[in-house]
Amino acid sequence: MEDLGPVARYRKIPLFAAAAMMSGFSLRAIYRWNTKYKKLFENWTPILNFHKIDDQKEWGINSISPSKFREFLNYLKQNDYKTITLKDYFVLLENKSLTRKHVVLCFDDGYADFAETAVPIMEEFGFTATAFIITDYIGKYNNWDFQIGGHKFRHMDINQIKDISERGFEIGSHTCSHPDLRLLNDSEIKDEIQISYDMLSSYGINTEFFSYPFGLYNQRIKDIAIESGYKGAVAYYVHDRHPVKADRFALERIGINSLDNLESFKIKLNSDHPMFPAMYMFGRTLSSISLLTPLLLKQKRSPNYI
Ligand SMILES: [Zn+2]
Repeated sequence: MEDLGPVARYRKIPLFAAAAMMSGFSLRAIYRWNTKYKKLFENWTPILNFHKIDDQKEWGINSISPSKFREFLNYLKQNDYKTITLKDYFVLLENKSLTRKHVVLCFDDGYADFAETAVPIMEEFGFTATAFIITDYIGKYNNWDFQIGGHKFRHMDINQIKDISERGFEIGSHTCSHPDLRLLNDSEIKDEIQISYDMLSSYGINTEFFSYPFGLYNQRIKDIAIESGYKGAVAYYVHDRHPVKADRFALERIGINSLDNLESFKIKLNSDHPMFPAMYMFGRTLSSISLLTPLLLKQKRSPNYI
């Protein structure tokens, strides 16, 4: 295929995404990338995070249209990527067999569109993924979230969760009620982490991995997740002062959202791409917007909060 050269190729990226990346890549961002995050992405196996695969309108950026999702999966297939679960990821990590052509597809929140739309598309490609469930909201609408304009989304019911689990998709916990865990005391954190695990187990669903709501955690929360018997946990733009590559309880993920197109998706898959640092740092900035959700919902701050 004719090489268009970098200028022509990048012209395909929508202007708003390019502008956003430029603004996200300030001098401070360059410094933080070089001193803190760069090491996370050496010989990196991508772990991507999605939320909704849905054409329904919403004000946020968490929905991707089914046609765009199919385009992304088609790119993965055409370029010999192999999707793996988190369980596979840790086995391959242990055996030092992870490659840059493995990819983990995570879906936070367990929306019904995962079972109804995403799974059938992934099965067409022979792909797998990991869905993180908010157990108090199984089969219910997302009242835990800030619903601008009254747009509501339904979560998978238990039959859908059991069905996709039997079809080989990995199920993880995303707490009982999706709180900002940092605002809770130890026993409340333990309840959120342990009761969600027990509930999924009571349905015969083996849950080994955990995803922090809003990607927010601290050492105290990590320790409780470890004590609760999980084998690993995924973060979202890691919050450690000194991030560690392949930290089993703060595994870094890159978010894929409605601003992405195929060009930005390709960049997010490849940490060697010259645009990857800008894209990553802009993703961090975007993800910090989600910090507003617990504030807007006036999530309680426990009196025992230290
Ligand atoms: Zn979530």
